Amino acid sequence: MHRTHVLSHLVAPALFLAVALGALAPASTLAQQEPPAPTPATPSVPTVIPTPTPRPAGTPPRVGLQVGHWKSNELPDELSRLRTSTGAYVRGLAEVDVNLDIARRVAALLTAQGIVVDLIPATVPPSYDADAFVAIHADGSSSSRARGFKLATPWRTSRASQHLLEALSAEYAAATRLPRDGGITVNMRGYYAFNYRRHTHAIARTTPAVILETGFLTNPADRALLTGQPDIVAAGIANGILRYLRERDPSDGAALIPPEFGSYRAASPTVAVRAAPSDTARVLLQATPESRFFVFRERDGWFEVMVRGNRTVTGWVRVSDLVASNEPPPAPPPSSDS
Ligand SMILES: [Zn+2]
Repeated sequence: MHRTHVLSHLVAPALFLAVALGALAPASTLAQQEPPAPTPATPSVPTVIPTPTPRPAGTPPRVGLQVGHWKSNELPDELSRLRTSTGAYVRGLAEVDVNLDIARRVAALLTAQGIVVDLIPATVPPSYDADAFVAIHADGSSSSRARGFKLATPWRTSRASQHLLEALSAEYAAATRLPRDGGITVNMRGYYAFNYRRHTHAIARTTPAVILETGFLTNPADRALLTGQPDIVAAGIANGILRYLRERDPSDGAALIPPEFGSYRAASPTVAVRAAPSDTARVLLQATPESRFFVFRERDGWFEVMVRGNRTVTGWVRVSDLVASNEPPPAPPPSSDS
């Protein structure tokens, strides 16, 4: 959560995205959001697939727990614009203190299971390499009714990151009984710590990563849980991470590689961008021949895309509705960098 700049130029493009999705994003992630970095104008399959860092047999798993906004004043020059991102401050309660308390409890639970834990401040070690990276934040809203937790992976989602998200979602919901607020994640996916293309101080490309908004400090029930029963919250997070580590196949290096896609355009004049990968899902945008598609995930014959046309939306398009283009990929929308 971030409470400065809310009326600045940072908000307009992000609001644009959020409104397109029918959901108003909180200021928290807007301030830290970045668009996906443009893919170089290369073929739609990667030409070089780096091998994930091999880990010697018997090496204990390593997990990074990032405490949202912690020591943000120490961020390096490349992220200087986030130095004032101090998080929510709700009725005498600072988000960073809630994040830190929960993260320390998660660290204790994981360490007891033989896992090596790094408690990471806002500044991520360069190309941070670990078996899992979880950024821990808490949310705020102008409405005290908004509640629940949110989870998101980076724009380019490796199978491992998706697996981590699903394990964490299931275990966190089971432990906390909080509802999952799934509608606003587009603004979390551009989280600066995920952006290894743009920043030195970011996760390594192959580190499975998620950002978790643990609940709303502005909602009485969520706040009571986050501050009154932090061990339950921490158990939900630790159980999710442990479940992922238990279920994954450590020999499946390909699962760690984020997909890379090229530039696409519509195959016909009547391509619909939908809110979900289904022919009955709500239409967010009718693409035009001028529309350019940035693809960041493929699932069951559908692409998850960011489309730039008259307006920018994120949604789903049938793979068969697009054709590869040799043009440079669409420029990303204005970011909080600018
Ligand atoms: Zn935050």
